[in-house]
Amino acid sequence: MKVLLVEDEPKVSAFIRKGLEEEHFDVEVAYDGTFGTRLALSHTFDLIILDVILPGMSGFDVLKTIRQHDQDVPVLLLTALGATADKLEGFGAGADDYLLKPFDFPELLARVRALTRRRGHGSKGATLTLADLTLDTAAKTVTRAGQTLKLTAREFALLELLLRNKGRVLSRAEIAEHSWEESFDAGSNVIDVYVNYLRNKVDKPFPTRLIHTVVGMGYVMREEDK
Ligand code: CA
Repeated sequence: MKVLLVEDEPKVSAFIRKGLEEEHFDVEVAYDGTFGTRLALSHTFDLIILDVILPGMSGFDVLKTIRQHDQDVPVLLLTALGATADKLEGFGAGADDYLLKPFDFPELLARVRALTRRRGHGSKGATLTLADLTLDTAAKTVTRAGQTLKLTAREFALLELLLRNKGRVLSRAEIAEHSWEESFDAGSNVIDVYVNYLRNKVDKPFPTRLIHTVVGMGYVMREEDK
């Protein structure tokens, strides 16, 4: 489980990071809102823990920006602000849960587990779209131009990853890290093989391509260049 922690107070972020790492979470830390936003938009996380009062860009603004690109990633807001108006602003901006500082680690861990479990079970489904392609993460269905496409579980996972990151080039290493649980020889061409399988189903029967190779970089999903 990959967690992004956006927290400017070094003591607090070190305390959370250490605790979560002991529970086998993989934690990345950003100390300001701008960098936190950049990380959130360029990597796939299972959970984002977001402080509200941050230098540069507030947690609410970080959250709004994330939600413009990703409706699905669970976000837990951390803040010393206890006023109802702030909670409402947080939920209005797309937060899934709210924890007031100071808090005990077990309380944080319970929230983190609840939010990541929900994501793991896919009960909070999302519909991802690009042009005439639609992927439903809860129903596990893919359609293009009204036709249902039959994908294997691995092809589905790969397509979901590419769609969640549409418009952004994913390197083979990033794809491997997010879609393949078992490790494999980094020199193997397994990613290219699966992208090819996916293309045969998603792109080949249709007049326009959505999966593009960026030479020397990786793959990106976007509408065909005009
Ligand atoms: Ca702060």
